[in-house]
Amino acid sequence: MAYRALYRVFRPQIFGDLVGQEHITRTLQNALKEKRFSHAYLFSGPRGTGKTSAAKILAKAINCKQGPAAEPCNQCSACEGITEGSVVDVIEIDAASNRGVEEIRDVRDKVKYAPTEVAFKIYIIDEVHMLTTEAFNALLKTLEEPPQHVVFILATTEPHRLPATIISRCQRFDFRSISAKAMMERLCFIADAEDVKISKQALSLMIRVAQGGMRDVLSLFDQILSYAGQTIEEEDVIMVTGVIPQRALSEISQAVLDGDAAKLMELVHQLTSEGKNSEQFLDDVLIYFRDLLVYKTAPNLEEIQHRITGDEQFVEIAHTFDHESLYLIIESLNKSLADMKWATHPKIALEIGLIRLLELNRSQPQKEVLTTEAQPELDQLQKRLTELENKLQQVTQHRSTASTSTTGSGQARRVEAPRRASVPPTVKINEHRIQEILATASRSSLQKLTQQWPDILNQIKKQRIQVHAWLIDGEPVAVGESGVLISFKSAIHRETTEKEQHREIIEGVIQSVLGQPMEMLTLMENQWKEIASELKSEQGQERETSEQREDADPFLEEALKLVGEELLEIKD
Ligand SMILES: [Zn+2]
Repeated sequence: MAYRALYRVFRPQIFGDLVGQEHITRTLQNALKEKRFSHAYLFSGPRGTGKTSAAKILAKAINCKQGPAAEPCNQCSACEGITEGSVVDVIEIDAASNRGVEEIRDVRDKVKYAPTEVAFKIYIIDEVHMLTTEAFNALLKTLEEPPQHVVFILATTEPHRLPATIISRCQRFDFRSISAKAMMERLCFIADAEDVKISKQALSLMIRVAQGGMRDVLSLFDQILSYAGQTIEEEDVIMVTGVIPQRALSEISQAVLDGDAAKLMELVHQLTSEGKNSEQFLDDVLIYFRDLLVYKTAPNLEEIQHRITGDEQFVEIAHTFDHESLYLIIESLNKSLADMKWATHPKIALEIGLIRLLELNRSQPQKEVLTTEAQPELDQLQKRLTELENKLQQVTQHRSTASTSTTGSGQARRVEAPRRASVPPTVKINEHRIQEILATASRSSLQKLTQQWPDILNQIKKQRIQVHAWLIDGEPVAVGESGVLISFKSAIHRETTEKEQHREIIEGVIQSVLGQPMEMLTLMENQWKEIASELKSEQGQERETSEQREDADPFLEEALKLVGEELLEIKD
Protein backbone atom coordinates (compact mmCIF):
# COMPACT_ATOMS: atom_id res chain seq x y z
CA MET A 1 0.00 0.00 0.00
CA ALA A 2 1.33 3.40 -0.94
CA TYR A 3 2.24 5.68 1.93
CA ARG A 4 -0.48 8.21 2.68
CA ALA A 5 0.38 11.50 4.27
CA LEU A 6 -0.63 11.79 7.91
CA TYR A 7 -2.70 14.87 7.32
CA ARG A 8 -4.78 12.90 4.82
CA VAL A 9 -5.04 9.80 6.99
CA PHE A 10 -5.96 11.83 10.04
CA ARG A 11 -8.06 14.40 8.28
CA PRO A 12 -11.07 14.97 10.55
CA GLN A 13 -14.08 12.97 9.34
CA ILE A 14 -16.60 14.12 11.94
CA PHE A 15 -17.07 17.41 13.82
CA GLY A 16 -15.80 15.67 16.94
CA ASP A 17 -12.37 15.29 15.27
CA LEU A 18 -11.98 19.01 14.64
CA VAL A 19 -9.41 20.28 17.11
CA GLY A 20 -9.87 23.53 19.01
CA GLN A 21 -12.94 24.86 17.14
CA GLU A 22 -15.69 23.83 19.53
CA HIS A 23 -17.33 27.27 19.29
CA ILE A 24 -17.96 26.59 15.60
CA THR A 25 -18.82 22.92 15.60
CA ARG A 26 -21.43 23.33 18.33
CA THR A 27 -23.27 26.06 16.42
CA LEU A 28 -23.18 24.10 13.18
CA GLN A 29 -24.37 20.92 14.87
CA ASN A 30 -27.28 22.68 16.54
CA ALA A 31 -28.37 24.08 13.18
CA LEU A 32 -28.07 20.62 11.60
CA LYS A 33 -30.14 19.01 14.35
CA GLU A 34 -32.89 21.55 13.75
CA LYS A 35 -32.41 21.32 9.97
CA ARG A 36 -32.07 25.08 9.80
CA PHE A 37 -28.88 25.52 7.85
CA SER A 38 -27.91 28.56 5.87
CA HIS A 39 -27.37 28.76 2.10
CA ALA A 40 -24.00 30.43 2.42
CA TYR A 41 -21.24 29.99 4.99
CA LEU A 42 -17.98 31.84 5.31
CA PHE A 43 -15.18 30.01 7.13
CA SER A 44 -12.30 32.37 7.87
CA GLY A 45 -9.12 31.84 9.88
CA PRO A 46 -5.40 31.06 9.69
CA ARG A 47 -4.16 28.22 7.51
CA GLY A 48 -4.35 24.72 8.87
CA THR A 49 -7.09 25.41 11.38
CA GLY A 50 -9.61 23.03 9.80
CA LYS A 51 -11.69 25.23 7.49
CA THR A 52 -11.80 22.91 4.47
CA SER A 53 -12.10 19.85 6.69
CA ALA A 54 -15.09 21.46 8.40
CA ALA A 55 -16.55 22.30 4.99
CA LYS A 56 -16.39 18.67 3.88
CA ILE A 57 -17.82 17.39 7.16
CA LEU A 58 -20.65 19.90 6.83
CA ALA A 59 -21.27 18.77 3.24
CA LYS A 60 -21.52 15.18 4.47
CA ALA A 61 -23.69 15.98 7.51
CA ILE A 62 -26.16 17.82 5.24
CA ASN A 63 -26.24 15.07 2.61
CA CYS A 64 -25.86 11.97 4.79
CA LYS A 65 -28.55 9.36 4.06
CA GLN A 66 -29.16 9.27 7.84
CA GLY A 67 -29.28 13.04 8.02
CA PRO A 68 -29.15 15.90 8.04
CA ALA A 69 -27.54 14.99 11.36
CA ALA A 70 -25.17 16.45 13.94
CA GLU A 71 -22.46 14.10 12.65
CA PRO A 72 -22.16 12.35 9.27
CA CYS A 73 -22.37 8.56 9.48
CA ASN A 74 -19.35 8.19 7.14
CA GLN A 75 -20.74 4.83 5.99
CA CYS A 76 -23.56 5.61 3.59
CA SER A 77 -22.89 6.09 -0.12
CA ALA A 78 -23.26 9.87 0.17
CA CYS A 79 -20.73 10.17 3.01
CA GLU A 80 -18.22 7.83 1.39
CA GLY A 81 -18.63 9.49 -2.00
CA ILE A 82 -18.03 12.95 -0.56
CA THR A 83 -14.96 11.76 1.38
CA GLU A 84 -13.51 10.29 -1.83
CA GLY A 85 -14.51 13.35 -3.86
CA SER A 86 -16.57 11.34 -6.33
CA VAL A 87 -19.97 12.96 -5.77
CA VAL A 88 -20.58 15.38 -8.64
CA ASP A 89 -22.95 17.51 -6.58
CA VAL A 90 -20.23 18.48 -4.13
CA ILE A 91 -17.94 20.79 -6.07
CA GLU A 92 -14.60 21.99 -4.69
CA ILE A 93 -13.07 25.07 -6.30
CA ASP A 94 -9.60 26.36 -5.47
CA ALA A 95 -9.75 30.07 -6.22
CA ALA A 96 -6.00 30.40 -5.66
CA SER A 97 -5.06 28.20 -8.61
CA ASN A 98 -6.78 29.97 -11.51
CA ARG A 99 -8.67 32.77 -9.83
CA GLY A 100 -11.91 30.99 -10.66
CA VAL A 101 -13.33 32.92 -13.61
CA GLU A 102 -14.26 29.80 -15.58
CA GLU A 103 -15.46 27.87 -12.55
CA ILE A 104 -17.64 30.65 -11.22
CA ARG A 105 -19.17 31.19 -14.65
CA ASP A 106 -19.86 27.47 -14.64
CA VAL A 107 -21.41 27.76 -11.16
CA ARG A 108 -23.69 30.56 -12.35
CA ASP A 109 -24.82 28.52 -15.35
CA LYS A 110 -25.41 25.23 -13.56
CA VAL A 111 -26.50 26.27 -10.06
CA LYS A 112 -30.16 26.16 -11.08
CA TYR A 113 -30.08 22.44 -11.91
CA ALA A 114 -31.14 20.15 -9.10
CA PRO A 115 -28.56 17.77 -7.58
CA THR A 116 -28.53 14.26 -8.97
CA GLU A 117 -26.83 12.05 -6.34
CA VAL A 118 -27.48 13.76 -3.02
CA ALA A 119 -30.07 16.11 -1.51
CA PHE A 120 -28.04 19.33 -1.71
CA LYS A 121 -25.62 20.74 -4.22
CA ILE A 122 -22.64 22.06 -2.29
CA TYR A 123 -20.00 24.46 -3.57
CA ILE A 124 -16.83 24.66 -1.49
CA ILE A 125 -14.72 27.61 -2.65
CA ASP A 126 -11.29 27.65 -1.02
CA GLU A 127 -9.16 30.81 -0.78
CA VAL A 128 -12.19 32.72 -2.01
CA HIS A 129 -10.44 36.10 -1.57
CA MET A 130 -8.33 35.22 -4.64
CA LEU A 131 -11.27 35.48 -7.04
CA THR A 132 -11.14 38.19 -9.69
CA THR A 133 -13.61 41.08 -9.54
CA GLU A 134 -15.49 39.52 -12.41
CA ALA A 135 -15.75 36.21 -10.58
CA PHE A 136 -16.86 37.98 -7.39
CA ASN A 137 -19.65 39.70 -9.30
CA ALA A 138 -20.79 36.40 -10.77
CA LEU A 139 -20.68 34.80 -7.32
CA LEU A 140 -22.59 37.68 -5.78
CA LYS A 141 -25.43 37.29 -8.29
CA THR A 142 -25.72 33.64 -7.32
CA LEU A 143 -25.57 34.37 -3.60
CA GLU A 144 -28.30 36.99 -3.90
CA GLU A 145 -30.87 34.39 -4.91
CA PRO A 146 -29.54 30.93 -4.18
CA PRO A 147 -31.82 28.07 -5.23
CA GLN A 148 -33.26 26.01 -2.35
CA HIS A 149 -31.09 22.98 -3.12
CA VAL A 150 -27.73 24.81 -2.96
CA VAL A 151 -25.28 25.51 -0.12
CA PHE A 152 -22.13 27.63 -0.58
CA ILE A 153 -19.19 27.21 1.78
CA LEU A 154 -16.54 29.86 1.25
CA ALA A 155 -13.17 29.51 2.98
CA THR A 156 -10.50 32.18 3.32
CA THR A 157 -7.39 33.08 5.27
CA GLU A 158 -7.92 36.76 4.45
CA PRO A 159 -11.56 37.75 5.01
CA HIS A 160 -10.67 41.47 4.89
CA ARG A 161 -10.02 41.06 1.17
CA LEU A 162 -13.60 40.00 0.50
CA PRO A 163 -16.20 42.51 -0.72
CA ALA A 164 -18.60 43.46 2.07
CA THR A 165 -21.49 42.52 -0.22
CA ILE A 166 -20.28 38.90 -0.19
CA ILE A 167 -19.61 38.77 3.56
CA SER A 168 -23.03 40.18 4.39
CA ARG A 169 -24.73 37.30 2.58
CA CYS A 170 -22.89 34.60 4.50
CA GLN A 171 -23.12 33.15 7.96
CA ARG A 172 -19.58 33.76 9.16
CA PHE A 173 -17.41 31.53 11.36
CA ASP A 174 -13.95 32.56 12.51
CA PHE A 175 -11.59 29.64 13.02
CA ARG A 176 -9.00 30.11 15.73
CA SER A 177 -5.36 29.14 15.77
CA ILE A 178 -5.22 25.78 17.44
CA SER A 179 -3.88 25.97 20.99
CA ALA A 180 -0.69 24.14 21.84
CA LYS A 181 -2.59 21.99 24.31
CA ALA A 182 -5.19 20.89 21.75
CA MET A 183 -2.42 20.16 19.24
CA MET A 184 -0.48 18.19 21.80
CA GLU A 185 -3.52 16.00 22.49
CA ARG A 186 -4.17 15.40 18.82
CA LEU A 187 -0.51 14.61 18.09
CA CYS A 188 -0.32 12.18 21.01
CA PHE A 189 -3.42 10.47 19.67
CA ILE A 190 -1.91 10.19 16.18
CA ALA A 191 1.47 9.00 17.51
CA ASP A 192 -0.34 6.28 19.46
CA ALA A 193 -2.38 5.24 16.45
CA GLU A 194 0.74 5.09 14.26
CA ASP A 195 2.75 3.31 16.96
CA VAL A 196 5.34 6.09 17.08
CA LYS A 197 7.37 6.86 20.20
CA ILE A 198 7.91 10.59 20.46
CA SER A 199 9.18 12.64 23.39
CA LYS A 200 7.19 15.54 24.87
CA GLN A 201 10.08 17.89 24.06
CA ALA A 202 9.99 16.83 20.42
CA LEU A 203 6.23 17.42 20.29
CA SER A 204 6.56 20.83 21.93
CA LEU A 205 9.16 21.86 19.42
CA MET A 206 7.06 20.68 16.46
CA ILE A 207 4.11 22.66 17.77
CA ARG A 208 6.28 25.73 18.17
CA VAL A 209 7.47 25.45 14.58
CA ALA A 210 3.97 24.90 13.17
CA GLN A 211 2.56 27.97 14.98
CA GLY A 212 -1.02 26.82 15.32
CA GLY A 213 -1.50 25.11 11.95
CA MET A 214 -2.66 21.51 12.19
CA ARG A 215 -1.84 20.66 8.59
CA ASP A 216 1.66 22.12 8.94
CA VAL A 217 2.38 20.17 12.09
CA LEU A 218 1.20 16.93 10.46
CA SER A 219 3.32 17.53 7.34
CA LEU A 220 6.24 18.13 9.66
CA PHE A 221 5.40 14.96 11.55
CA ASP A 222 5.54 13.09 8.22
CA GLN A 223 8.92 14.56 7.34
CA ILE A 224 10.39 13.70 10.73
CA LEU A 225 8.94 10.20 10.58
CA SER A 226 10.71 9.49 7.32
CA TYR A 227 13.92 10.94 8.76
CA ALA A 228 13.91 9.33 12.20
CA GLY A 229 11.67 6.29 11.97
CA GLN A 230 9.32 5.19 14.72
CA THR A 231 11.24 6.80 17.61
CA ILE A 232 11.44 10.58 17.58
CA GLU A 233 13.54 12.76 19.89
CA GLU A 234 13.91 16.52 20.12
CA GLU A 235 17.21 16.29 18.19
CA ASP A 236 15.39 14.81 15.18
CA VAL A 237 13.01 17.77 15.07
CA ILE A 238 15.97 20.13 15.34
CA MET A 239 17.73 18.35 12.47
CA VAL A 240 14.74 18.41 10.14
CA THR A 241 13.51 21.94 10.87
CA GLY A 242 16.77 23.77 11.62
CA VAL A 243 14.99 25.42 14.53
CA ILE A 244 16.97 26.68 17.52
CA PRO A 245 16.35 24.36 20.48
CA GLN A 246 14.74 25.86 23.54
CA ARG A 247 17.79 25.01 25.64
CA ALA A 248 19.95 27.23 23.43
CA LEU A 249 17.36 30.02 23.56
CA SER A 250 17.37 29.85 27.35
CA GLU A 251 21.16 30.03 27.32
CA ILE A 252 21.03 33.06 25.04
CA SER A 253 18.60 34.93 27.26
CA GLN A 254 20.63 33.96 30.33
CA ALA A 255 23.70 35.46 28.65
CA VAL A 256 21.69 38.64 28.01
CA LEU A 257 20.72 38.69 31.69
CA ASP A 258 24.32 38.20 32.76
CA GLY A 259 25.56 40.81 30.29
CA ASP A 260 27.91 38.13 29.02
CA ALA A 261 28.88 39.14 25.48
CA ALA A 262 31.53 36.43 25.16
CA LYS A 263 29.04 33.69 25.95
CA LEU A 264 26.56 35.19 23.50
CA MET A 265 29.10 35.18 20.68
CA GLU A 266 30.12 31.64 21.53
CA LEU A 267 26.49 30.51 21.20
CA VAL A 268 26.05 32.33 17.90
CA HIS A 269 29.20 30.73 16.55
CA GLN A 270 28.20 27.29 17.73
CA LEU A 271 24.68 27.44 16.33
CA THR A 272 25.55 29.03 12.99
CA SER A 273 28.35 26.52 12.46
CA GLU A 274 25.68 23.84 12.86
CA GLY A 275 24.08 25.43 9.81
CA LYS A 276 21.36 27.49 11.48
CA ASN A 277 19.98 30.22 9.29
CA SER A 278 20.66 33.69 10.76
CA GLU A 279 17.20 35.03 10.04
CA GLN A 280 15.42 32.07 11.55
CA PHE A 281 17.84 32.26 14.47
CA LEU A 282 16.86 35.85 15.22
CA ASP A 283 13.21 35.05 14.66
CA ASP A 284 13.39 32.19 17.18
CA VAL A 285 15.05 34.49 19.72
CA LEU A 286 12.34 37.11 19.13
CA ILE A 287 9.55 34.61 19.70
CA TYR A 288 11.29 33.33 22.82
CA PHE A 289 11.43 36.82 24.34
CA ARG A 290 7.87 37.47 23.27
CA ASP A 291 6.86 34.30 25.12
CA LEU A 292 8.78 35.44 28.22
CA LEU A 293 6.71 38.61 28.20
CA VAL A 294 3.48 36.71 27.60
CA TYR A 295 4.34 34.35 30.44
CA LYS A 296 5.07 37.26 32.79
CA THR A 297 1.75 38.86 31.90
CA ALA A 298 -0.44 35.75 31.82
CA PRO A 299 1.39 32.69 33.17
CA ASN A 300 -1.59 30.40 32.68
CA LEU A 301 -2.22 31.23 29.05
CA GLU A 302 -2.57 27.98 27.14
CA GLU A 303 -0.59 28.99 24.09
CA ILE A 304 2.69 29.26 25.98
CA GLN A 305 2.36 26.09 28.04
CA HIS A 306 4.55 24.26 25.52
CA ARG A 307 7.44 26.54 26.56
CA ILE A 308 7.17 25.49 30.16
CA THR A 309 6.96 21.78 29.40
CA GLY A 310 10.22 20.27 30.57
CA ASP A 311 12.01 23.60 30.96
CA GLU A 312 12.21 25.13 34.42
CA GLN A 313 14.79 27.60 33.21
CA PHE A 314 12.17 29.38 31.12
CA VAL A 315 10.07 30.21 34.16
CA GLU A 316 13.11 31.32 36.13
CA ILE A 317 14.31 33.58 33.32
CA ALA A 318 10.84 35.06 32.91
CA HIS A 319 10.82 36.01 36.58
CA THR A 320 14.26 37.57 36.40
CA PHE A 321 13.63 39.91 33.47
CA ASP A 322 11.61 43.04 34.16
CA HIS A 323 8.80 44.10 31.84
CA GLU A 324 10.56 47.23 30.66
CA SER A 325 13.66 45.34 29.50
CA LEU A 326 11.53 42.76 27.72
CA TYR A 327 9.62 45.45 25.82
CA LEU A 328 12.87 47.09 24.76
CA ILE A 329 14.43 43.77 23.77
CA ILE A 330 11.45 42.70 21.67
CA GLU A 331 11.31 46.07 19.97
CA SER A 332 15.01 45.92 19.19
CA LEU A 333 14.82 42.33 17.86
CA ASN A 334 11.94 43.31 15.60
CA LYS A 335 14.01 46.12 14.17
CA SER A 336 17.09 43.90 13.76
CA LEU A 337 14.98 41.34 11.95
CA ALA A 338 13.69 43.98 9.54
CA ASP A 339 17.24 45.27 8.96
CA MET A 340 18.49 41.77 8.31
CA LYS A 341 16.43 41.47 5.12
CA TRP A 342 18.78 44.01 3.53
CA ALA A 343 21.99 42.84 5.17
CA THR A 344 24.79 41.53 2.96
CA HIS A 345 26.23 39.64 5.94
CA PRO A 346 23.30 38.19 7.86
CA LYS A 347 25.54 36.61 10.48
CA ILE A 348 27.05 39.97 11.41
CA ALA A 349 23.56 41.46 11.53
CA LEU A 350 22.61 38.61 13.86
CA GLU A 351 25.58 39.27 16.15
CA ILE A 352 24.87 43.00 16.30
CA GLY A 353 21.19 42.32 16.91
CA LEU A 354 22.05 40.18 19.93
CA ILE A 355 24.84 42.36 21.35
CA ARG A 356 22.44 45.29 21.27
CA LEU A 357 20.27 43.42 23.77
CA LEU A 358 22.99 43.54 26.42
CA GLU A 359 22.78 47.32 26.59
CA LEU A 360 19.01 47.24 26.69
CA ASN A 361 18.91 44.97 29.67
CA ARG A 362 21.55 46.88 31.58
CA SER A 363 20.14 50.33 30.95
CA GLN A 364 18.18 51.37 33.98
CA PRO A 365 15.41 53.95 33.69
CA GLN A 366 16.48 57.26 35.24
CA LYS A 367 12.98 58.61 35.53
CA GLU A 368 10.96 58.58 38.70
CA VAL A 369 9.41 55.22 39.29
CA LEU A 370 6.49 54.28 41.47
CA THR A 371 6.90 51.43 43.88
CA THR A 372 4.62 49.01 42.07
CA GLU A 373 6.17 49.65 38.68
CA ALA A 374 9.61 49.23 40.10
CA GLN A 375 8.84 45.92 41.76
CA PRO A 376 10.20 43.69 38.96
CA GLU A 377 13.42 45.71 38.94
CA LEU A 378 13.74 45.32 42.64
CA ASP A 379 13.06 41.62 42.34
CA GLN A 380 15.82 41.33 39.80
CA LEU A 381 18.21 43.18 42.02
CA GLN A 382 17.32 41.02 44.96
CA LYS A 383 17.79 37.89 42.91
CA ARG A 384 21.26 39.05 41.92
CA LEU A 385 22.02 39.61 45.57
CA THR A 386 20.81 36.17 46.55
CA GLU A 387 23.05 34.68 43.87
CA LEU A 388 25.90 36.73 45.16
CA GLU A 389 25.31 35.66 48.70
CA ASN A 390 25.13 32.05 47.61
CA LYS A 391 28.44 32.42 45.86
CA LEU A 392 29.96 33.94 48.94
CA GLN A 393 28.54 31.17 51.05
CA GLN A 394 30.09 28.63 48.73
CA VAL A 395 33.39 30.40 49.11
CA THR A 396 33.17 30.44 52.90
CA GLN A 397 32.10 26.82 52.95
CA HIS A 398 34.98 25.96 50.69
CA ARG A 399 37.35 27.74 53.00
CA SER A 400 35.79 26.23 56.06
CA THR A 401 36.21 22.73 54.63
CA ALA A 402 39.77 23.53 53.72
CA SER A 403 40.59 24.66 57.24
CA THR A 404 38.95 21.55 58.72
CA SER A 405 41.02 19.28 56.57
CA THR A 406 44.27 20.95 57.54
CA THR A 407 43.98 21.82 61.21
CA GLY A 408 40.45 20.99 62.25
CA SER A 409 40.54 23.97 64.58
CA GLY A 410 38.49 27.11 64.30
CA GLN A 411 35.71 25.37 62.43
CA ALA A 412 33.16 25.56 65.21
CA ARG A 413 33.69 29.26 65.61
CA ARG A 414 33.34 29.80 61.89
CA VAL A 415 30.05 27.96 61.72
CA GLU A 416 28.62 29.86 64.66
CA ALA A 417 29.75 33.23 63.42
CA PRO A 418 27.18 35.04 61.30
CA ARG A 419 28.03 34.58 57.64
CA ARG A 420 27.94 38.23 56.78
CA ALA A 421 30.25 39.20 59.59
CA SER A 422 32.99 37.20 57.93
CA VAL A 423 32.95 39.49 54.91
CA PRO A 424 35.83 41.92 55.21
CA PRO A 425 35.16 45.57 54.44
CA THR A 426 36.75 46.62 51.19
CA VAL A 427 36.03 50.34 51.49
CA LYS A 428 38.33 52.00 53.98
CA ILE A 429 36.64 53.88 56.76
CA ASN A 430 37.34 57.51 57.47
CA GLU A 431 38.21 57.05 61.13
CA HIS A 432 39.10 60.68 61.67
CA ARG A 433 35.72 61.94 60.40
CA ILE A 434 33.89 59.24 62.32
CA GLN A 435 35.54 60.35 65.54
CA GLU A 436 34.57 63.96 64.76
CA ILE A 437 30.95 62.97 64.31
CA LEU A 438 30.92 60.80 67.41
CA ALA A 439 32.29 63.72 69.40
CA THR A 440 29.17 65.75 68.62
CA ALA A 441 26.72 62.83 68.50
CA SER A 442 23.76 62.65 70.83
CA ARG A 443 21.14 60.04 71.60
CA SER A 444 18.29 62.44 70.86
CA SER A 445 19.52 63.35 67.38
CA LEU A 446 19.87 59.65 66.57
CA GLN A 447 16.32 59.01 67.78
CA LYS A 448 15.08 61.86 65.64
CA LEU A 449 16.82 60.51 62.54
CA THR A 450 15.67 56.95 63.21
CA GLN A 451 12.09 58.19 63.22
CA GLN A 452 12.60 59.97 59.91
CA TRP A 453 14.61 57.14 58.35
CA PRO A 454 11.63 55.37 56.68
CA ASP A 455 10.65 58.68 55.10
CA ILE A 456 14.21 59.22 53.86
CA LEU A 457 14.34 55.71 52.39
CA ASN A 458 11.02 56.29 50.69
CA GLN A 459 12.13 59.51 49.05
CA ILE A 460 15.33 57.87 47.85
CA LYS A 461 13.28 55.03 46.41
CA LYS A 462 11.25 57.53 44.41
CA GLN A 463 14.39 59.13 43.04
CA ARG A 464 16.25 55.97 42.23
CA ILE A 465 15.05 52.54 43.18
CA GLN A 466 18.51 50.95 42.99
CA VAL A 467 20.02 53.30 45.55
CA HIS A 468 17.21 52.43 47.92
CA ALA A 469 17.88 48.73 47.39
CA TRP A 470 21.50 49.19 48.43
CA LEU A 471 20.89 51.56 51.32
CA ILE A 472 18.17 49.43 52.88
CA ASP A 473 20.88 47.16 54.30
CA GLY A 474 22.24 50.08 56.32
CA GLU A 475 21.19 51.35 59.74
CA PRO A 476 21.93 54.80 61.13
CA VAL A 477 23.96 54.34 64.31
CA ALA A 478 25.12 57.86 65.13
CA VAL A 479 24.20 61.43 64.18
CA GLY A 480 26.59 64.29 64.78
CA GLU A 481 26.39 67.97 63.92
CA SER A 482 27.70 67.54 60.38
CA GLY A 483 27.32 63.90 59.54
CA VAL A 484 25.39 60.65 59.76
CA LEU A 485 27.07 57.33 60.46
CA ILE A 486 25.48 54.28 58.83
CA SER A 487 26.39 50.72 59.66
CA PHE A 488 26.08 47.95 57.06
CA LYS A 489 25.79 44.20 57.35
CA SER A 490 26.79 43.52 53.76
CA ALA A 491 30.06 44.82 52.32
CA ILE A 492 28.66 44.98 48.79
CA HIS A 493 25.75 47.09 49.91
CA ARG A 494 28.06 49.41 51.73
CA GLU A 495 30.54 49.64 48.89
CA THR A 496 27.87 50.45 46.32
CA THR A 497 26.12 52.94 48.56
CA GLU A 498 29.44 54.77 48.78
CA LYS A 499 29.58 55.32 45.01
CA GLU A 500 29.70 59.03 44.26
CA GLN A 501 26.44 59.27 42.29
CA HIS A 502 24.60 57.29 45.00
CA ARG A 503 26.06 59.35 47.82
CA GLU A 504 24.82 62.52 46.10
CA ILE A 505 21.24 61.26 46.04
CA ILE A 506 21.30 60.03 49.64
CA GLU A 507 22.90 63.18 51.06
CA GLY A 508 20.49 65.30 49.03
CA VAL A 509 17.47 63.57 50.52
CA ILE A 510 18.87 63.64 54.07
CA GLN A 511 19.48 67.37 53.73
CA SER A 512 15.96 68.03 52.49
CA VAL A 513 14.44 66.03 55.36
CA LEU A 514 16.68 67.27 58.19
CA GLY A 515 16.94 70.79 56.81
CA GLN A 516 20.75 70.90 56.95
CA PRO A 517 23.64 69.41 54.94
CA MET A 518 24.91 66.13 56.35
CA GLU A 519 27.84 64.03 55.27
CA MET A 520 27.15 60.30 54.96
CA LEU A 521 29.76 58.06 56.54
CA THR A 522 29.56 54.32 56.38
CA LEU A 523 31.18 51.38 58.07
CA MET A 524 30.64 47.70 58.59
CA GLU A 525 28.61 46.36 61.48
CA ASN A 526 31.62 44.64 63.05
CA GLN A 527 33.62 47.85 62.82
CA TRP A 528 30.81 49.73 64.51
CA LYS A 529 30.65 47.15 67.28
CA GLU A 530 34.32 47.61 67.89
CA ILE A 531 34.06 51.39 67.99
CA ALA A 532 30.96 51.24 70.17
CA SER A 533 32.68 48.94 72.66
CA GLU A 534 35.70 51.27 72.75
CA LEU A 535 33.35 54.15 73.48
CA LYS A 536 31.74 52.18 76.27
CA SER A 537 35.08 51.26 77.82
CA GLU A 538 36.13 54.89 77.63
CA GLN A 539 32.99 55.62 79.57
CA GLY A 540 34.27 53.21 82.21
CA GLN A 541 32.23 50.24 81.16
CA GLU A 542 33.39 46.78 80.32
CA ARG A 543 34.92 46.19 76.97
CA GLU A 544 32.77 44.12 74.71
CA THR A 545 34.26 41.05 73.25
CA SER A 546 35.18 41.34 69.63
CA GLU A 547 36.29 37.78 69.17
CA GLN A 548 33.56 37.22 66.61
CA ARG A 549 35.32 39.49 64.23
CA GLU A 550 37.32 37.78 61.57
CA ASP A 551 40.48 39.02 60.04
CA ALA A 552 40.58 39.89 56.38
CA ASP A 553 41.06 36.85 54.24
CA PRO A 554 42.84 37.35 50.92
CA PHE A 555 40.87 34.51 49.30
CA LEU A 556 37.51 35.94 50.35
CA GLU A 557 38.56 39.42 49.43
CA GLU A 558 39.49 38.22 45.97
CA ALA A 559 36.17 36.41 45.56
CA LEU A 560 34.28 39.45 46.71
CA LYS A 561 36.15 41.64 44.31
CA LEU A 562 35.21 39.30 41.49
CA VAL A 563 31.50 39.04 42.20
CA GLY A 564 31.38 42.66 43.23
CA GLU A 565 32.75 43.74 39.88
CA GLU A 566 30.28 41.57 38.03
CA LEU A 567 27.44 43.13 39.93
CA LEU A 568 28.63 46.65 39.29
CA GLU A 569 28.90 45.95 35.59
CA ILE A 570 25.30 44.81 35.48
CA LYS A 571 24.07 47.72 37.50
CA ASP A 572 25.64 50.55 35.55
ZN1 LIG B 1 -23.82 9.13 5.86
